[in-house]
Amino acid sequence: MHCLVIVDVPSRLTLNVAKTQCFSMMDRRTFTKLSVATLVAAPSHIRAQPKQNVIVIGAGAAGLTAAYHLKSAGVGVRIVEASNRWGGRLKRLTGFSEVPLDLGAEWIHDEPTILGQIVGKGETDLDVGTIEYRPQTYQFWHNGRLSSFDTLRYTYREVKFHDTTWYGFFERFIVPTIQDTMELNVPVSHIASNSGGVAVHLRNGRVYEADKALVTVPLSVLQRGNIGFSPDLTPPHIRELQDIDFGSGFKVFLKFKERFYPDILMEGPRLSALADTWAQKIYYDAAFGKPTTDNVLGLFAVSDSALPRASLDDETLLREVLAELEDIFGSVVSRTFIAGKVQNWSNERFIMGSYSMTNHGWQGVDDILAPMAGKVFFAGEALGGDAQSTVHGAAFSAIDAARDIQAR
Ligand SMILES: Cc1cc2nc3c(=O)[nH]c(=O)nc-3n(C[C@H](O)[C@H](O)[C@H](O)COP(=O)(O)OP(=O)(O)OC[C@H]3O[C@@H](n4cnc5c(N)ncnc54)[C@H](O)[C@@H]3O)c2cc1C
Repeated sequence: MHCLVIVDVPSRLTLNVAKTQCFSMMDRRTFTKLSVATLVAAPSHIRAQPKQNVIVIGAGAAGLTAAYHLKSAGVGVRIVEASNRWGGRLKRLTGFSEVPLDLGAEWIHDEPTILGQIVGKGETDLDVGTIEYRPQTYQFWHNGRLSSFDTLRYTYREVKFHDTTWYGFFERFIVPTIQDTMELNVPVSHIASNSGGVAVHLRNGRVYEADKALVTVPLSVLQRGNIGFSPDLTPPHIRELQDIDFGSGFKVFLKFKERFYPDILMEGPRLSALADTWAQKIYYDAAFGKPTTDNVLGLFAVSDSALPRASLDDETLLREVLAELEDIFGSVVSRTFIAGKVQNWSNERFIMGSYSMTNHGWQGVDDILAPMAGKVFFAGEALGGDAQSTVHGAAFSAIDAARDIQAR
């Protein structure tokens, strides 16, 4: 029998034992071999009793997915999120167009079958509408001229949601299971571990204790040392984290009365579209394949260096983007413009950029962010391996971490 305690510390002086849970220690390895699908489907009376408590730091794709799988497996979970909303780099814009729009992650950078895998149901069809995203018309703006290069339609294909968003997907399949475990507006400042477990210190002075902690904050937060660790995330680790680029980036949506733009508009010579680079600036028809007649043009801009526009306030950024489009397409832009929305990820206080990019060091992210003392674990897009910098990469890293947490 193993007893664990979550301690709620409203002030530095008073310790309130908020919750005590005693768990029978069933064989965790055996347990994790059971498919998560079976666990999710299992009636509550045959589910395992809580075996241990885990504090998940960050309620983005990784934190939400980890909490969902841990809770489904009978582990006690508490999510602590710094901002006032869940989702992290998943964010939805409603009321702008007939269809909801993704202000953060938008594309499904793999086959739709990953959706079932994220929720632990293998390749089950979840009945989520997706579309094959295969833009047909491409234009390039170069040296003051616009030229077409539609041949690219044969080389580029991806998947998107039909009438929902990445945020909507998590809202429907993941969040209902874990909503009651989530605490918002509680930035974590420090994580201490000792032989008994972990103590997670919040900026508001409270401390939560548990067996283990799973850290899913963006790489930018760790690189800046915004969360302290004791025993330290040792100096070489902190130094090696700096070898990984965390990009800057923003998105803009613009609504027009007319559609005067192609499916995809890029800057530079036509062959630049084939360059293998992290820096991307793409205007795209955000309503492509969606059930709406609205004309919505998106701008996706990310870079491994600081984007000058990412330092602007939203109003100035929007004005610059409209002026740029006016240079390309002429007065139709201002004549038909209805509304615009900027989402500047570089200015988000708890994100501070877009996503992890090149690792210039010799050590892999998995090694740099290996579990510490079997108590503090890491997940998130930077640990997504082949799917680094994507939603499913973040989710899969979380599923791995959840499995690892139960196995130790
Ligand atoms: C502009 C843009 C476009 C993108 N497009 C796509 C796309 O089309 N497809 C795709 O698959 N991916 C895309 N991505 C990447 C994708 O959004 C991310 O890979 C993924 O959402 C990251 O999830 P995460 O859980 O690792 O991190 P996050 O979503 O960043 O979650 C981390 C959470 O930790 C919280 N946090 C930070 N500090 C603290 C603290 N001290 N205490 C507690 N909580 C804290 C943050 O508030 C945040 O909620 C895009 C990203 C951007 C920025």
